[in-house]
Amino acid sequence: MIIVMNSKATDDQVQEVEKRIQEFGFRSRPSQGEDRFVISVLGSPIPDALQEALEHLGGVQEVVRISKKYKLVSREFHPEDSIVDVRGVKIGGPEVVVMAGPCSVETEQQTLETAHAVKAAGATMLRGGAFKPRTSPYDFRGLGEEGLKILAKAREETGLPVVTEVMTTADVDLVAEYADMLQIGTRNMQNYLLLEAAGKSGKPVLLKRGMSAEIEEWLLAAEYIMAQDNEDVVLCERGIRTFEKLTRNTLDLSAIPVIKRLSHLPIVIDPSQGTGKWYLVPSMMRGAVAAGADGMLVEVHPNPDHAMSDGGQSLTFENFQEAMDSSSAIASAIGRSIPKGSGVPVSADD
Ligand code: PEP
Ligand code: MN
Repeated sequence: MIIVMNSKATDDQVQEVEKRIQEFGFRSRPSQGEDRFVISVLGSPIPDALQEALEHLGGVQEVVRISKKYKLVSREFHPEDSIVDVRGVKIGGPEVVVMAGPCSVETEQQTLETAHAVKAAGATMLRGGAFKPRTSPYDFRGLGEEGLKILAKAREETGLPVVTEVMTTADVDLVAEYADMLQIGTRNMQNYLLLEAAGKSGKPVLLKRGMSAEIEEWLLAAEYIMAQDNEDVVLCERGIRTFEKLTRNTLDLSAIPVIKRLSHLPIVIDPSQGTGKWYLVPSMMRGAVAAGADGMLVEVHPNPDHAMSDGGQSLTFENFQEAMDSSSAIASAIGRSIPKGSGVPVSADD
C-alpha cells in the first residue's frame, strides 16, 4: 500500500502518517518522486482498518493498494526510472553502461591488460570474478581475496569501478571492502540471507536472474535487497534454461520491456553467460541495446583459448572493440549513447 501525500502536506502530517503505520505494526518508507511524495507501507497482509485510518489523516491525497507482491521494486511505488550511481557511473540514464572484463581474475597482468583494453573500447566499468561459483568442484574457483586486490589495483590504474561476485554472507564485508558493486550470481538469486546481507552492505547490487527463475521471483529477490534500505539495485538478465542445446542458455531479451513495465529498476544484459558462444555475443549486445537495456556485462579475455573459465564465450580485445562500435551505432539510433573510448589501450606496464 502507498500513501500519496498532497503537494502541500507538512512535515508534521508526514510524521503523523508514519506514526500510524508503525502503531499498526508495519514499517514505512518515504520516497520523493519527481512530482509526488509517497509513503510506502511494508508488510503483509495490510488490514482495511489501517487503510481507513490513513485516508482520514491530514495531508493525505490518496491511499493506493499495490496489487503486486513486490512493492519497493514496483513502478506503482516509483513511477520514474531509477538511476543507480556506482562511483560516478550512472546506470539507468541515457548512457548504456558497459561493464566488461574477464570471467575470472587469473593474474595481475591478465586483469590489468584487459581493464585497459576494455576502457579503451568504451567500457566504463570493470567486471571480473574472484569468488567463482563452478558447476564442478574441480574447476578453477577463483583467487579469492588475492583476486579482489588485483581488481582494486586495476581500478586504481584505470579509474573503472569494479563489479564482482559475492557468494556467501560470510564474504560480504570482505568483497564490499574492495568492490564498488556486489554481483549476486544466478545460482544465488534465491539465497535470501545473502540478498539481505548484500542489501545491508550499502553497496550497489547487481542481481542476476536465476537460471530457472520467473520474472516475478526475480523481482521479489530484488525486493529483499531493497527492503534493507538499499535503493541501488540493478537487475541482470543472463539467460535462462530451456530445452535448447545449441546455446548455453536462452537469453531472454523480452525481459527488458517486461521489467521496464513492472519496475523502475535499471536492467543490464549479460550476453556472455546468455549465449555461451563468443560469436553470438556481438549480435546479442546490439539486440540488448535496441530492446532498451541500460547496460551490458561482457566477458573479455586477452587470450580466450587459455582462459581458466568461460573462454568459449569470451571476446578478444579486437572483437570487443568491433562489438562496441556496432552497439554504439544502435544506441545512437534510439537516442542513447555508448561512450567512445580512446581506441588505444594503454599497456599495463606503461
Ligand atoms: C559470471 O558472471 O561469470 C557468472 C558466473 O555469472 P552467472 O551467475 O550468471 O552464471
Ligand atoms: Mn563467466
